[in-house]
Amino acid sequence: MSDAQEDGSEPFRVAIIGGGIGGLFCALAIHHHHHNDSSSSSSSFPSLPNDVGHNGATGTSTTAPPKIGTKRKIQIDVYEQAPQYREIGAGVGIGINAARLLHRLGLGSGLVKIAGQRQGTWFTFRRYENSSEVVSIPDAEPEPGDVRQSPCARSDLLELFLGAIRERGAATLHTEKACTGVTVLGSDNIEDRGGKVEVQFRDGTSAVADVVVGCDGVHSVVRDKFVTDANNKSVESGMIAYRGIVPISALEKDWPFDHWSNIWVSKHKHFLSYPITCNTKLNIVAFVTKRLGGGIPINEKEDEANKYKNIRESWSSLCDRDEVVADFADFDEPVQRIISLMDEKPGRWRINDHEPLSRWHFAGGRVVLVGDAAHAMLPHMGAGAGQSVEDGWILGRALADYLRGHDSDSRDGNPNGGSSGDNKFESLEFTMQFYQDIRLPRAQKVQAASRVGGNLYELQTEEMSALSYDDSLPVLGEAMRQRMKFVWSEDVDDSYNRMRDGKQQQQQ
Ligand SMILES: Cc1cc2nc3c(=O)[nH]c(=O)nc-3n(C[C@H](O)[C@H](O)[C@H](O)COP(=O)(O)OP(=O)(O)OC[C@H]3O[C@@H](n4cnc5c(N)ncnc54)[C@H](O)[C@@H]3O)c2cc1C
Repeated sequence: MSDAQEDGSEPFRVAIIGGGIGGLFCALAIHHHHHNDSSSSSSSFPSLPNDVGHNGATGTSTTAPPKIGTKRKIQIDVYEQAPQYREIGAGVGIGINAARLLHRLGLGSGLVKIAGQRQGTWFTFRRYENSSEVVSIPDAEPEPGDVRQSPCARSDLLELFLGAIRERGAATLHTEKACTGVTVLGSDNIEDRGGKVEVQFRDGTSAVADVVVGCDGVHSVVRDKFVTDANNKSVESGMIAYRGIVPISALEKDWPFDHWSNIWVSKHKHFLSYPITCNTKLNIVAFVTKRLGGGIPINEKEDEANKYKNIRESWSSLCDRDEVVADFADFDEPVQRIISLMDEKPGRWRINDHEPLSRWHFAGGRVVLVGDAAHAMLPHMGAGAGQSVEDGWILGRALADYLRGHDSDSRDGNPNGGSSGDNKFESLEFTMQFYQDIRLPRAQKVQAASRVGGNLYELQTEEMSALSYDDSLPVLGEAMRQRMKFVWSEDVDDSYNRMRDGKQQQQQ
């Protein structure tokens, strides 16, 4: 079937590889910005009471958009390897920085319905053996329109995205499409500016697109095709995480604290819980370091410490609850109660991240990375999904600015299009570099902070390793007070406007 427009021109095709949180949000953001004539972020979709525009106001725009030509149609396809779009039943904390963007996308009321409430406290860090408080970190202040920290069940979040994609006709969703390769057509030179990109799938089929977005997670096939330097490697943290969700109703009686977001810390272990699904469920992540930085074994024999290496880095990897019981046997009573409510087969995941990449776009901007494919990070800032949301939002804005200058009248057979008016987004190379300039430094700052976070919570930073448990706790308390502010406070729309205005001034 041809997707040609009424004027006979072909649509601009975007192939998104991977339908996780990053891929689905990216599809929605590209669609949203393309159908939104403002260059800011106001919604062109019916505004719901909880859905706010830029800077909390519906439909505000701080800068003039580039000139708009006859809009070229866009065709977005999402290719997911799994037989269905599904997230395993664990939680994910959507920070206020990412929640803002969901609200701007018109998903605010849906998000509020599925989120938990942290009751003013991001986390209270507690001693493992008696639960006494080490430090309480206040949550980010809610913003107008009920924009707030939004811890959710992953499955609920994915359903919210899928529902919006279907309702808006934002993208075509494909399943059982495992990408095995990506080829730039029309040239042997991978950096060639012309041509389209072909994606190959395991089932022997292929698809051609103008832009391929690699949202295929930490083990990204798209990334591995284009990043061939020594830095393209995952890094062992030496840590595993047990995952579970338990009903809050089973804990409410005699719960000793006035909120549900707590982290119990011991040397080389921490047990974390926060509420999801309107505070009806408690999300559990229990971390244990088996080898420091993947190297020195912790309190165990060499062969014991090596066992974790056989654990799969996969949400679907399970273990016996007895393992959690054994690893956290010396933790206080509330932790024991939570563990007793976990499934008999809780999730268990080996935790790795990835070395920072120097580049996120390739082939003259025809291939670009988003989410964990670009910046897989350890989970200790609770920010990886939020960073992938920020990626998708900014990529959507940049592509919309590019396409505004490449309307159906101005392409004239030029595969890279011609620019109309004062649009500075002349090429995909510029567009993707612009996306990278905004997103890479910030995402890599969060990536680095996540590594430090893991060592802090497990009281195993260089400074803490020389200290006793008691002496480590004040160091943790001091370090925690300021850590999250830079993640939550930045508004990526402001960064986008600032950088675009700066580039326009440079070019005038
Ligand atoms: C224990 C733990 C706790 C976390 N907690 C938080 C938190 O509280 N807050 C937060 O913001 N982040 C958290 N994160 C991080 C967050 O889960 C990730 O950053 C986020 O899921 C990344 O989304 P993504 O879409 O980029 O990648 P993924 O979620 O990995 O999705 C990738 C998708 O691509 C598909 N895919 C893979 N390969 C192919 C292929 N070759 N072809 C087609 N499809 C493919 C996969 O099936 C999957 O659907 C946590 C991570 C862990 C491990």
